[in-house]
Amino acid sequence: MTQNNPGNIAVITSGGDAPGMNAAVRAVVRTALTRGVNVFAVQNGYRGMVAGGENIRQMVWESVGGILQLGGTVLGTARSDEFRTRDGRRTAAKNLVENDIDRLVVIGGDGSLTGANIFRQEWPDLLAELVDQDQISQELAQAHPNLFLVGLVGSIDNDMFGTDMTIGADTALHRITEAIDALSSTATSHHRTFIVEVMGRHCGYLALMGGIATGADWVLIPENPPEEEDWESEMCRALKSGREIGRQHSIVVIAEGAHDRDGNPITSEYTKQVLEDKLGEEVRITILGHVQRGGAPSAFDRYLGTVQGYAAVDELLQSVPEDEPKLVGIRQHGVVRSSLMECVVQTQEVANVIHAQDFETALSMRGGSFAESYRIFRTILRSHPKPPETGDRQLRLAILNAGGLSPGMNAAARAAVRLGMDKGHTFLAVRRGFHGLVQGDISQLDWMSVSGWVSRGGAGLGTSRHIPNGRDFYAIAKNLESHQVDGLLIIGGWAGYEAAYELFNRRNDFASFNIPIVCLPTSIDNNLPGSELSIGADTALNNIVTNVDKIKQSAVASRRCFVVEVMGRDCGYLALFGGLATGAEKAYIPEEQITIAELQEDVAGLIEGFKSGKRLGLMIRNEKAGGLYDSSFISTLFEQAGGDLFDVRQAILGHIQQGGNPSPFDRIQATRLASQSIEFLLSEVTKPNPAAAMIGLRGGEIEFTSIYDFPRLIEPGFQRAKDQWWLRLRSIAETMDQTPKTANQNNSE
Ligand code: ADP
Repeated sequence: MTQNNPGNIAVITSGGDAPGMNAAVRAVVRTALTRGVNVFAVQNGYRGMVAGGENIRQMVWESVGGILQLGGTVLGTARSDEFRTRDGRRTAAKNLVENDIDRLVVIGGDGSLTGANIFRQEWPDLLAELVDQDQISQELAQAHPNLFLVGLVGSIDNDMFGTDMTIGADTALHRITEAIDALSSTATSHHRTFIVEVMGRHCGYLALMGGIATGADWVLIPENPPEEEDWESEMCRALKSGREIGRQHSIVVIAEGAHDRDGNPITSEYTKQVLEDKLGEEVRITILGHVQRGGAPSAFDRYLGTVQGYAAVDELLQSVPEDEPKLVGIRQHGVVRSSLMECVVQTQEVANVIHAQDFETALSMRGGSFAESYRIFRTILRSHPKPPETGDRQLRLAILNAGGLSPGMNAAARAAVRLGMDKGHTFLAVRRGFHGLVQGDISQLDWMSVSGWVSRGGAGLGTSRHIPNGRDFYAIAKNLESHQVDGLLIIGGWAGYEAAYELFNRRNDFASFNIPIVCLPTSIDNNLPGSELSIGADTALNNIVTNVDKIKQSAVASRRCFVVEVMGRDCGYLALFGGLATGAEKAYIPEEQITIAELQEDVAGLIEGFKSGKRLGLMIRNEKAGGLYDSSFISTLFEQAGGDLFDVRQAILGHIQQGGNPSPFDRIQATRLASQSIEFLLSEVTKPNPAAAMIGLRGGEIEFTSIYDFPRLIEPGFQRAKDQWWLRLRSIAETMDQTPKTANQNNSE
């Protein structure tokens, strides 16, 4: 079989269900159809593959319409003992080959992928046996001598080697965070302690990240059991001292697989007993259970499923028999392909390493930012206001927000203040951004001023888009001097970066500007240089996705096209990613011109679609894309062209996008970046020419870029970075949403 003559593709979901699996199924089906390959779906996991018949169905374009926003898997999943036997797998092979299927995308956990690999290895023999038994013809067997296999990891546990994130983990983290936020408010009212048990099998990812995202007081994970002999007393001491500093409640998060250093399970019941005995107060347990698997997938899981499903098909179509099967995962936003079995073996190895009580290796094998996050969490957890180390000077660090409001600003401020005060330094709050710095609206923060900020939307310090000019600099210099500011942390967007650059350029004029400065990227627009992602963009995307889901539902009874306008200023990130995650047909972004010819083409596409049965159209437009061809213009144009065929509604999402509590991702990254920013300020402060820098995320790692480079890294005349990695996803968005001419149209999304 060559690349030019591929057999049919089948996609299957297996093992535990995970939100985002549907996005992957949709992407596999649509990419295969776009590439001109027949594609089948196997229902009910391996049980369906063995049972055959109706369980193996050919898919058309509309078969996967309207599934992007659904939780679980529309294909169903089931455990299958038959597939564990050779007889069962032989029957499964027969069912596939009879449909000319010899390419398989398996979406599941390590168990499902192991099973798939065995099946692939046995394939030639299974077909030979089927020929011997006269169950299939020699010709059929010869036409499909190999089974090509690609695995995607669908699992809420985020426990798999070969990918930074598994499909479903981000959504589970959303559920956990929502639940702990809700518990925190009742716990606060009663000054109570709650134990929250979360899923994750051998993996502590959900517990650790859930703990960071909610500001929990203690976390117990399998990878790093408590080091102290008497960890129970240590935990109680930490909770008690939290209360003494002023905390109103305590939350302990326990991973279901938690155990002590001897491998004895640490159960919620045991922990409750310990806390009640030692603290003398009533403790409540909440076991989150299957709620964590449920609900609509997050924006990230829709993205993850989509890009991985797309890559899986391309991988299958390029495979030659000598290739070993691949696992398609994600690293640094990009899709990566690794040896499937190597990943399975390494994943199982982590469990072995934990079993052998080699916890250091277990932590490092989790990869990504797991170990770093764990360290930060431990530091924040144990932090309390302290005097500086002997010999160190107590520093005065000022902190302010600047630019548009972005969810996560508070989370960053909280982490910075807590970590800095733990090292004995003083924090000054500058209110309302650079307005406050000009006007001297500066006051000292205490430990409890940032209490609860990790989960709170808005900006506790206030923010403004004011960029200092003229006499402002003199006033700023005076205020920095009179408050003896040793370092400045700007948590903000474009205005903050421009302002930092202006201060940096005037260092020769004003001695008090010669202090370390860090710009921490917070902007829903994701338009800042020096970072691939800015804090707040993930929350905004989730706001877009949830609201567009509702808008789409409102159109069930009519044939309607929505033109949804999203924010982003000069940057199309929210529009393109929002389009990917909501299944829009088109994303209009400011990086590209919109011509009247293109709009006419889009109208023609809509007319053709609605004529052949489409019920819903969805276009996402960035607020500045197209200039004069704004959302009203486009809506009117489409409405006129639609005539009786379809109507058009415009929806401007507006400030909803900036609102609400930050997503878990934004909270976690804000905490990481703030922690590193404080380290940076402290290390620069003693230098004669301290740096002014932008902190950012690149490939999942944290890096600093001098503010001196700001003008060089931005697109002249626009508020956006020159390097925009996400533009590469344009072609994937187009493949998903623009029905190939050959396929049937029914439902756009
Ligand atoms: P997960 O994929 O989430 O790890 P399981 O371990 O339950 O879930 O595996 C799902 C299904 O995959 C099983 O019901 C079984 O049919 C198949 N499977 C798992 N391991 C094997 C194996 N070693 N050999 C054959 N099939 C397997």
